[in-house]
Amino acid sequence: MASRSTENLRNIGIIAHIDAGKTTVTERMLFVAGSTHRVGKVDEGTTTTDDDPEEAERGITIYAACVTFPWKGTTINLLDTPGHVDFTAEVERCLRVLDGAVVVFSAREGVEAQSETVWRQADKYKVPRIAFINKLDREGARFSEVVEEVRSRLGGNPVIIELPVGSGPEHASDPFRGVIDLVTMKMLVYDKSSDGKVFQEQEIPDESKDDAQLARIDMLEKLADYDGELMELLLEEKPVGEEMIHRALRTATLQMAIQPVLCGSALHGIGAQPILDAVTRYLPSPLDIPPVQGTLPGKEDKVETRKPDSSEPFCGLVFKILPAKTGDWYWIRVYSGELKGNTRLLCPNREEKENCTQLWLIHATKKDRAGQIERVGAGDIVGILGPRHGLTGDTFCDPKKPLVLPTIQFAESVISMAIEPDSTADRKKLLETLEMVKKQDPTFHVRDSEETGQTIVSGMGVLHLEVIRNRLLREFKLNVKVHEPRVSYRETAEKAVEVVGECRRIVGGTQLFAKVKIRMEPAPSQEKPVLVLTRVTSDAFPQNLRDAALEELRARGEGGGLIGSFPLTQLKITLLECEAAEQGSNEMAFAIAAGEAFDEALKAAGPVLLEPIMKVEIVVPDQYFGDISSDIQKRRGLISKTEARGDRTLIDANVPLAELFHYDNEIKSLSQGRASHSMEPHEYAPAPERVAQSFAF
Ligand code: GDP
Ligand code: MG
Repeated sequence: MASRSTENLRNIGIIAHIDAGKTTVTERMLFVAGSTHRVGKVDEGTTTTDDDPEEAERGITIYAACVTFPWKGTTINLLDTPGHVDFTAEVERCLRVLDGAVVVFSAREGVEAQSETVWRQADKYKVPRIAFINKLDREGARFSEVVEEVRSRLGGNPVIIELPVGSGPEHASDPFRGVIDLVTMKMLVYDKSSDGKVFQEQEIPDESKDDAQLARIDMLEKLADYDGELMELLLEEKPVGEEMIHRALRTATLQMAIQPVLCGSALHGIGAQPILDAVTRYLPSPLDIPPVQGTLPGKEDKVETRKPDSSEPFCGLVFKILPAKTGDWYWIRVYSGELKGNTRLLCPNREEKENCTQLWLIHATKKDRAGQIERVGAGDIVGILGPRHGLTGDTFCDPKKPLVLPTIQFAESVISMAIEPDSTADRKKLLETLEMVKKQDPTFHVRDSEETGQTIVSGMGVLHLEVIRNRLLREFKLNVKVHEPRVSYRETAEKAVEVVGECRRIVGGTQLFAKVKIRMEPAPSQEKPVLVLTRVTSDAFPQNLRDAALEELRARGEGGGLIGSFPLTQLKITLLECEAAEQGSNEMAFAIAAGEAFDEALKAAGPVLLEPIMKVEIVVPDQYFGDISSDIQKRRGLISKTEARGDRTLIDANVPLAELFHYDNEIKSLSQGRASHSMEPHEYAPAPERVAQSFAF
């Protein structure tokens, strides 16, 4: 096995719009690197990374997969991410632990709605990237236009380092048949019978020589800005060596100033090796990215930095958990220090000690492990067995040198469905199973509905819940009735109120007494759904009594509202005054008084039902613009922006999720499959009166 030194590691992700070819590119890279013996096909459900039955059946990636493999002395940890909007959490968690990315575009569809989303996510996490223009074998492939779209629509600075020779399928007049490497000025011709493993370097054909020369000059002129020596040679019109070009490409890519552009056809095995070379040459090793920062447990203002060095104390981030009967498998990105088997770790987020018993290299997704190893160093990604408490986004660290890394943020869930078990035994099994699914998927939530006795699960979209339903029924074979998904509502208050709550009960022969005054008000843009504050200081009033009241207010805040017992949000509650008597004022009395005040306040403040609004981005060919935009209006949507994009138009709109069920299919039929869209949760806003009235109370 190649040495897994930090310098020779690449943690990279493949990101793109759904169907651009991420899984196919991954599959081809694994094959040419010798990590698999045959090329799996998405369309046949036989790929290495889409190994979940649900994925194989649908031909899409749902769960992020990780594969580790060697390429010319470098170790590549590669994450294949899903493109569907319901699973953006999988993309977020990957970008968080990645150092670089390959962004795949389809040469035919070009920059699509979801390409914009993932590009923005990569900007947010400061991930340097290279671009791969895939599907050049397809009818209507348009290499130069797509590169131009990367510039105009994504605000990128693409630098072409490979030119396609020909374009389109075999029967086309000038079919796609190879790529020209602008650094070596050779044409790479792939041997079909080897499935793309074997290729030859040939002279550039005469008819392509001029184009290649121009493209090379363009590349060198762009790179001159990032390398003084290269600039000088160019000015003196002297030849520029290969090593210098690689150096300049690397420098500029690491600064996120440019994105080298490669091209090919993953399905036909053209152009995979140059992607791997570009990954090792231009994308960062863990040493090239800034050291991580974390805080000391419980002290958010005490920031500490850890270098990606094995001599530093160990710290790593849990970015994925795969539950298993034999013990959950934790995927960790190691940021500093090193990790060995049979080590005690601390999970500061849960204040729990954890055992790391075994380390495994990760191959593909769910079950396979590529081989047990003794240790991993800083910068690496590894699967460990043993931990029990940590959750996705938690830190594991050296117990003697505790540190908490920033956690991974996931969007709020917006859609839910009710599940009813057939019997008590089924109920127990259901709850256990849901617990497990929850641990694996941080965007999935479970709660019990008091009125109906149903279990309510919620997630990111219809497809997300559909996948979960199928898992419960097929994989776990549960006897449960699963209802149709519906929108997750929230409740809040309409206006600010101040109320007094009292406790004057006799409990066990003692007259209890407590009196509290609280203020409840709407608070639309705060970080927590329900914020509880106090103006009663602990030196003015017995702390235990005050805290009993505060705790009750917090607990009530986590419960449901008055309209449909939906979770409360956008609420601020302030404890204003407390009053105790000489006798009979204890913690129980204050909890009762606070609970009373809370109920009264919620009634007086006027409950409001909120519904999730999605930000929808649509790219539509001009001839369908009218139909699509009037359809958006019918769905109670508000178009916030339209922008011309060549012969297509970009539409930004805010649309209630309740009106977007099955939108995937409907937008397809409205545009004959030519419009692409992506959506993400935007905000919770008041629902129309008729919706609120449908929940009798
Ligand atoms: P992902 O959703 O980004 O993972 O995309 P997939 O790898 O699942 O590919 C989507 C579809 O495009 C599948 O039907 C692939 O067979 C097809 N595909 C992928 N790469 C190419 C290519 O280079 N040429 C052609 N013609 N089809 C491709
Ligand atoms: Mg895929």
